[in-house]
Amino acid sequence: MPSLPTESRGASATDLLNSTMECAGSYLERLDERAVMPPPEAVDRLAELGGPMPEGPTDPTAVLSVLDEIGSPATVATAGGRYFGFVVGGSLPAATAANMLAGAWDQNAGHVALSPVAAALEEIALGWLLDVLSLPPDAGGGFVTGATMANFSGLAAARHALLQRQRWDVEAQGLFGAPPVAVVVGDEVHASVLKALSLVGFGRDRVERVPVDGQGRMRAEALPELSSSTVVCIQAGNVNTGAFDPAEEICAAARRAGAWVHVDGAFGLWAAAAPGRAHLVRGFEKADSWAFDAHKWLNVPQDSGVIICRNAEHLRAAMSASAAYLIRGEGREPNQYVPEMSRRARGVEIWAALRSLGRSGVADLMERTCQYASHFAEGLRAAGYEILNNVVLNQVLVSFGDEETTRRVIAGVQAEGTCWAGGTVWQGRTAMRISVSSWATNEDDVERSLAAILRVARGEAG
Ligand SMILES: *Cc1c(COP(=O)(O)O)cnc(C)c1O
Repeated sequence: MPSLPTESRGASATDLLNSTMECAGSYLERLDERAVMPPPEAVDRLAELGGPMPEGPTDPTAVLSVLDEIGSPATVATAGGRYFGFVVGGSLPAATAANMLAGAWDQNAGHVALSPVAAALEEIALGWLLDVLSLPPDAGGGFVTGATMANFSGLAAARHALLQRQRWDVEAQGLFGAPPVAVVVGDEVHASVLKALSLVGFGRDRVERVPVDGQGRMRAEALPELSSSTVVCIQAGNVNTGAFDPAEEICAAARRAGAWVHVDGAFGLWAAAAPGRAHLVRGFEKADSWAFDAHKWLNVPQDSGVIICRNAEHLRAAMSASAAYLIRGEGREPNQYVPEMSRRARGVEIWAALRSLGRSGVADLMERTCQYASHFAEGLRAAGYEILNNVVLNQVLVSFGDEETTRRVIAGVQAEGTCWAGGTVWQGRTAMRISVSSWATNEDDVERSLAAILRVARGEAG
């Protein structure tokens, strides 16, 4: 078998990584100069990355060079400061760089024996997350792909806990013939919770939907009778309005009945980290499980969500697997708390983000983006446009008139290229949705974007 000498293996990797870092650096530096959406020509050129399966090897330097040449111009500039679509977030410098180093490490974070460093960083990050989000210090959890899988994992833990009480071993017996579990959601529940409910076998159509107010908050007084076999899914941060369900009342009712409260806090739970916004999450700490993203508001690279359970034993019972070859150490085995076995070391970037920001930096990130959202709302309102939500967080819903006009403005803004914001229908009204979630957004980005939106809305551009 031919093999490369060790020095040359390391040396060739270093050259390739150095040139790749240069590409990555100049990509980020030049983001400011380009349109947020890639031009159609750049997207058309992606076909050049295809063709038939290559018959033989290509030099890695050439592979990376074509990837940068064709791939980079076809990206959406979500890493820049003027992307306000969905709720996306960018990636902090420390998190991006940690992601690159962790790529070289190529750790399998499933087992302590496979990666002591990944396991240790996860445990540290978990502790810091509980601290900065004011969650119970003795809670446990796991690192998953995003809030969808975090919702799934929290609901699987709830399923275990509620059925175990009825002496039903759901992991062993499944749901066929199991005692029923009732599920209560707000009428503005996020689609990912409904998907998670369908994945855990609770069904998305057999849920009881509680009416909501004009901000999308569940009406606590309309909560149905709860029991010790009910799961109540509440929301911290509605994806349109940024509003929070009345957790204090709901958690108190659930506590009295012995029901399980699961929180979808994808981005909104981070309000807990900003002293000026923490009142919004009051009561949420009394829930039983919390799902949230790190890749949105904390600004780590995509593919990073977290599930926390007050009693992590329920999560472990729902997720654990055993096989003779799996080494089980004394401490926390990462794979025991998540659906995956082998996976990348997500805790590395979360650790780097929290270490680089510190408590004050996290608070500042959340507060600053909220203030930019308020600034957008003020500027749009001053120009005569209607803001449909109470801007309590980082989300703004704006109507430019009737449905057709609003749709025209959204399309015009997207085509103009200074910034990108999507559309939504909020309680029957068409709106443009602006979400300020990136560390990279600065005052200049907000001013330039606001000016571009107003130009398009007045028919002066786009
Ligand atoms: C984004 C979002 C989700 C889904 O999160 P993913 O990370 O995309 O899986 C769930 N709930 C809310 C409120 C969200 O904003």
